[in-house]
Amino acid sequence: MIIPCPNAFEKRGRMKETIYSIPINESFEITDGQCPVCRLHLRLTEDALDYTLGPAMMEPDMRQRTNALGFCPEHLAALIHRQKRLPLALILETHIQTLLKSEKHLFSESCYVCDRVSGFLTAYYSNILHLWRTEDSFRQKWDAQPMICRPHTVALAAAAPGELSRKETPVFLASLGQKAAAHMRGLSESLAVFIRSFDHRFAGGDLGEHRQAVQNAAAFLSGPKTNPQAG
Ligand SMILES: [Zn+2]
Ligand SMILES: [Zn+2]
Repeated sequence: MIIPCPNAFEKRGRMKETIYSIPINESFEITDGQCPVCRLHLRLTEDALDYTLGPAMMEPDMRQRTNALGFCPEHLAALIHRQKRLPLALILETHIQTLLKSEKHLFSESCYVCDRVSGFLTAYYSNILHLWRTEDSFRQKWDAQPMICRPHTVALAAAAPGELSRKETPVFLASLGQKAAAHMRGLSESLAVFIRSFDHRFAGGDLGEHRQAVQNAAAFLSGPKTNPQAG
């Protein structure tokens, strides 16, 4: 699926708020215990990585951006992993030329992929809040989601006052807070069981799902970064 660029809809009001309803609804329909926003985030990252090495890399506008912004270590590793060696070599060659010519760029840290993903994510957050506000069917999907990771909890909380009314914002924040609290209580109990298993007096018992206590806590605290496919 081709995802339209959020900038194309910036000045079109309502259109901007509903353009991503399909992928958002699809992701919130899945209740596998993973964060539904991470699922969207990871897909945006994959799309941005494909886009970076695709035909767009021959367009001067796009190259101006990759030349100036470069890539963070995580996304550079993901680009290398894609094994499109010629496009990547061309992109890196002109990026390094830019760094040679400009101290401003040499002394600043940025990433074209992070930048592109974050542009889309901002539009996704608006769209999620718009769906929560206007559609009962989405509100039910939202309520059925057991977990929104910490980074996406923070991002949605920050976006809420700009999208929701003064009355709606505290209702949304309460829902977000309750969801996080319920999940964190489970994580905390699971970590306690895991820690206790190191005590020789309790050794030998089957840890079951608590074996993953640290990984589950990290998935909540770090969000999309914990997935090896995150880029
Ligand atoms: Zn998440
Ligand atoms: Zn990056």
